[in-house]
Amino acid sequence: MSYDYDLFVIGGGSGGIAAARRATEYGAKVGLAEFDRLGGTCVNRGCIPKKLMVYASRFPHLFDGAQDYGWSVGETSLNWDKMTSAVNGEVERLNGVYQRMLDKAEVTIYQGYAHFVDAHTLTIGDHKITADKILIAVGGVPEKANIPGIENTIVSDDMFTLPQQPKRFVVLGGGYIGVEFACILNALGSEVTQIIRRPYILRGFDNDLREHLQNLLIEDGLRVFENSEVQSIEKTKDGLKLVTEGDHAETIMADAVLTATGRIPRLEKLGLENTGVEIHNGAIAVNKYSCTSVPNIFAVGDCTNRVNLTPVAIQEGRAVADTEFGGKHRIMSHENVPSAVFTSPEAASVGLTEEEANARYGEDDIKIHRVRFNPTYFSLTQRKEKAMLKLIVQQSSDRVLGAHMVGEAAAEIMQGIAIPVKMGATKADFDATVAIHPSVAEEFVTMP
Ligand code: NDP
Repeated sequence: MSYDYDLFVIGGGSGGIAAARRATEYGAKVGLAEFDRLGGTCVNRGCIPKKLMVYASRFPHLFDGAQDYGWSVGETSLNWDKMTSAVNGEVERLNGVYQRMLDKAEVTIYQGYAHFVDAHTLTIGDHKITADKILIAVGGVPEKANIPGIENTIVSDDMFTLPQQPKRFVVLGGGYIGVEFACILNALGSEVTQIIRRPYILRGFDNDLREHLQNLLIEDGLRVFENSEVQSIEKTKDGLKLVTEGDHAETIMADAVLTATGRIPRLEKLGLENTGVEIHNGAIAVNKYSCTSVPNIFAVGDCTNRVNLTPVAIQEGRAVADTEFGGKHRIMSHENVPSAVFTSPEAASVGLTEEEANARYGEDDIKIHRVRFNPTYFSLTQRKEKAMLKLIVQQSSDRVLGAHMVGEAAAEIMQGIAIPVKMGATKADFDATVAIHPSVAEEFVTMP
């Protein structure tokens, strides 16, 4: 049986593009469907524009610090339009980069939604195409909680096109997205209230990291309504009125409310019912080769709801291409995936949390090494910001099972620390490494 394509990819985001390009390197004929701009959530509405806004938000503290170091700083102010235009201009530039990359790889791009007719056939608008193998990489979309008046709230997609900076900003949810945007807007000078239904932000991260970061953000002016939920949101002439319940039962007003209570796979228009592809808990079920219940259909990235991070989707997509077209049987390992929260300061982790390590190996076999200190930069500044670094070590093997950090450049530092943790390094290996002094990261190799 001959098909139009060896591989057809649904979704031009991080995972889909990585798989398409890698498959063409092995000589496969590849097509790709995308209904929106190329680059997916990460490039268009996520990691990249968010990180640029994080950079924008860091200047006020730098202006203050500069004065403590002897600089004279004139009047400063933010031009919101200029910032958002610059951010969106960079996103457009990246859309073009992705287009050129796919053109160069000779991937045929179809603009529109792909819909399964059967396991080898898709329609995209008026086009009908067939493919030997099909990769679903459609990502996810924000999900709003069921709260009266929730239609008045915005989602993370909208953060990059707000016409003006909200003076009073409320965030619902304590995950990555909620914490990052609460921090950005707080640092840019908005009055920010974050409503979380737990005692601390960032469930799933190490408890010391959660507590340390939350305390720093509160010291920096963020209002956190912990153990609280929103009962209703009402549009009034003075703004949005929120009634909250729990530890903080109050009525608060906002100019904008961001719902960041999670994301779900974007599966509804795919026609998966025509294929036999199984879904578990709203996500596409896959095996370790990212193969679905239908042998010629694969799925990677957020639509499989494994570890929902861009670099994971990229590795999953490349592993599919290597295995199916490069004869390499490659599996993406979801163990020891590092990640960072781009707050100011950043928080980053790799490996097990203390709680996970205790549960897996027993408390008696786990040793915790932890330091909290004022980095040298803050010795001359009025504002102090303690860093926290932590290693979790299995006593019987001396292996470092987890590393966690809150502090400036934690993401950059943790990328390096992730290598020895992934390789199975011991605490003795860390101790044998010479420190770079004076630095924050040196604490990882000098911890008592
Ligand atoms: P998360 O799943 O990380 O967090 C959702 C938050 O909303 C949690 O705090 C959750 O509370 C809360 N929540 C869920 N339902 C309700 C409800 N009904 N009422 C009140 N609170 C609720 O989702 P995000 O949207 O923040 O992020 C989605 C994904 O995007 C993440 O999993 C991450 O993988 C990825 N991402 C990664 C980034 C990075 O690497 N820096 C940045 C941004 C996103 P509870 O904890 O109690 O369930």
